[in-house]
Parts: sequence; C-alpha cells; structure tokens
Amino acid sequence: MNLVLLGAPGAGKGTQAKFIAKKYNTPHISTGDMLRAAIADKTMLGIKAKGYMDKGELVPDEVVVGIVKERLLEEDCKMGFILDGFPRTVFQADALKKALAGEGKKLGLVLNVEVSEDELIKRLTGRRSCKECGKVYHIIFNPPKNGDVCDVCGGELYQRDDDTVETVNNRLKVYREQTLPLIDYYRKEGLLKNVDGVKPVADVERSVIAVLEEAR
Ligand code: ADP
Ligand code: AMP
Repeated sequence: MNLVLLGAPGAGKGTQAKFIAKKYNTPHISTGDMLRAAIADKTMLGIKAKGYMDKGELVPDEVVVGIVKERLLEEDCKMGFILDGFPRTVFQADALKKALAGEGKKLGLVLNVEVSEDELIKRLTGRRSCKECGKVYHIIFNPPKNGDVCDVCGGELYQRDDDTVETVNNRLKVYREQTLPLIDYYRKEGLLKNVDGVKPVADVERSVIAVLEEAR
C-alpha cells in the first residue's frame, strides 16, 4: 500500500495514519514529525525548519522533498508506506511522482480527510502530544486518563509551538493557498478518495478501513 493522507492541519491525518500503520504494519512517514525530531536534535535541518514552522509557513520544497526521498529508500518502505503531511504543494506532488517512478513505483491511493474549518481550529488548539512516544491527544475530544501524562508510556504531554490560535490561522491560510490544489491534482489522477473526518475517531477509522479494503 503506497498511501498519501491528505487534509488540512488538524483534520486527523496523524491519528488515522498511526491507526493504519499499526493495522497494516506499514511505515508511517510524517514530515512534521521528522522536522520536529530534527528541531529536538538541533540539527542544521531542524534549525532551518524551525523558523518556518513557528510562523506556520511551509518549509521550502527542496528541503522536504530531500528528506522524504531519502526516507522512501529505506528498507521498511519496500512493501509500502503511509505519507502524512507530504506532499503539501504541487511541486512536492510532482517530485514524489518522479521519485516513485524512478523506482518503478506509484501511489495507490490518496485519502483526503475532510473537516470544516471551525472544527480544525478547535482540534488544533486543544491538541496535546506525548514528548516520549508521540501519541496525540485532545483535551476535550480524546483526553488522557491522568492529567498531563501519556496513557501509553507515562511521558509528559506538551502543546506544539505552532498550535497557538495565531499560527493556526496562518497554517489554515497556507493550506488553502498551497495544499488545497492537490485535491484536484489527485482527483485528476484517479487516486482521490474522500473520508468524512468530522465523526468520532473510531467512526473515521471504520470509514478509512472501508475505503482501504475496497482499494486493495
Ligand atoms: P493532523 O495530523 O491532520 O494535523 P491530528 O491527527 O494530530 O491531525 O489531530 C488533530 C487533533 O484532533 C488532535 O488533538 C486529535 O486528538 C484530534 N482528533 C483527531 N481526529 C479526531 C476526530 N475524529 N474527532 C475529534 N478529534 C479528533
Ligand atoms: P504537521 O505536523 O504536518 O502539521 O507539520 C507541521 C509543520 O511542519 C508545517 O506547518 C510546516 O511548517 C512543516 N511541514 C511539514 N510537512 C511539510 C511539507 N510537506 N512541506 C513543507 N513544510 C512541511
């Protein structure tokens, strides 16, 4: 399964990607997670990316394309992958297509998770993530059982620097301007399947499985 999860920031891509990755034993590749790991490690990539991410802007295409191309060459991607948060521009989508073609591969499906903008703002500003294992919570919709501690590993939960109201508004603007055109792009390629992302997590998971099973 060579899968792309498309959708606005906060649509639930990461939540669904983690679920699919576990169920189908396929690597979950989140460019946001990779960039945040680079920031935590204080690498050159992280230092460069942080300025863009804190403002809610996209990291330059060539930087992100470079890290994804490298990641897709790793052994665990041979049988398939789930891309989450990439591509985000037409340039990235073209680069992905070219890179896959170079290895005799192509995308199998693009799942577009649809959620209204009001809901996205609530989801992003209430999101909390585990510092240790990356599990994602929501203070109202999906709260941890014990205060600020991860249910799975006991790690400390934190709010992402870019999940503030101000940055969220810019991220949604950037999404509309640069990423939304990918819906038409993949529709034209015959790869697009829409999933209603407004329902509770378990219901979205059921819809996702139905679409994936139909495509297999
Ligand atoms: P994305 O990866 O698209 O930015 P996330 O998966 O991180 O989105 O989800 C954003 C926030 O919304 C998180 O706090 C998550 O717990 C919550 N969330 C995800 N899916 C749902 C859902 N179906 N209903 C309610 N909240 C959700
Ligand atoms: P995410 O975790 O997917 O919400 O991404 C967080 C931030 O990382 C984005 O707002 C961008 O600044 C950056 N980022 C993640 N993926 C990409 C991408 N494909 N292209 C450019 N920037 C990205």
